[in-house]
Amino acid sequence: MSTDTATLRAPYAYSTVNWITAIFMVLFHVAAVAAFFFFSWTNLLVALVLHWFAVGFGISLGYHRLHTHRGYRTSKAFEHFLAICGTLTLEGGPIFWVATHRLHHQHSDQSGDPHTPRDGGFWAHMGWILFGDTHHNNTMLMGKYAPDLLADPVYRWLNSYHYVPLILSGVILLAVGGWSMVLWAVFLRVVFGLHATWLVNSATHMWGSRRFATRDDSRNSWWVALLTFGEGWHNNHHAHPVSARHGLAWYEFDISWITLKVLNAVGLVRDLKVAKITTRVSIDEAA
Ligand SMILES: [Zn+2]
Ligand SMILES: [Zn+2]
Repeated sequence: MSTDTATLRAPYAYSTVNWITAIFMVLFHVAAVAAFFFFSWTNLLVALVLHWFAVGFGISLGYHRLHTHRGYRTSKAFEHFLAICGTLTLEGGPIFWVATHRLHHQHSDQSGDPHTPRDGGFWAHMGWILFGDTHHNNTMLMGKYAPDLLADPVYRWLNSYHYVPLILSGVILLAVGGWSMVLWAVFLRVVFGLHATWLVNSATHMWGSRRFATRDDSRNSWWVALLTFGEGWHNNHHAHPVSARHGLAWYEFDISWITLKVLNAVGLVRDLKVAKITTRVSIDEAA
């Protein structure tokens, strides 16, 4: 595997297959479909609660609004807790996720964007994971784009062993609720969470409205926002990446922002950075 940055800047290629990722993706999708034959209200409830922790806390509040963009401040312990939640999505460790996402903001819809729909809608959704040069486990290389996280041994460990918390959760679920609960709260939950997150990379760079004239194709999408705890207000986000609030208008429902206000009220988080809806964005400054 090449480790020069030129490889990262030209990710669009169907010539390679990431076999391990591909095999796991097929297995997870098959098991997710199988889950529907083992429905129970308990399984659904457990899956929803874990989905909230994994995507709501782990990805939206953790990897994205905190670890990548530093939209607010919190204790190291809570930062680490959010990162552990993030690994439960099977979206990789914190250094990989943050580095990939910072690259996305640096080169949005230009050459070097790891997942732009200009390279095809399927590519932006999941093709880049299956066929792209994603450097999942190259902690040192990805660390160049996330030196703040690389400095923390907890994040370095989580980046290399990101699948361990998920496996542990699976063992506990197996003991508590048997295989049907594992099918729901691991396999179906992970697949649902992956597609919801991937829609932010695909759908909200193709469909929806644009409030801000950013230099990328980002859009605001109410239905992606509903599926992703508020991450669908993606044009707002590209215009104001550091803002911890993504739904800027009162009618733009942003569950993560509401959660942050609650966490702020109980003293768990502080210094919430908030963009004003009226703040104009020049093309040059929006990245
Ligand atoms: Zn984007
Ligand atoms: Zn972002």
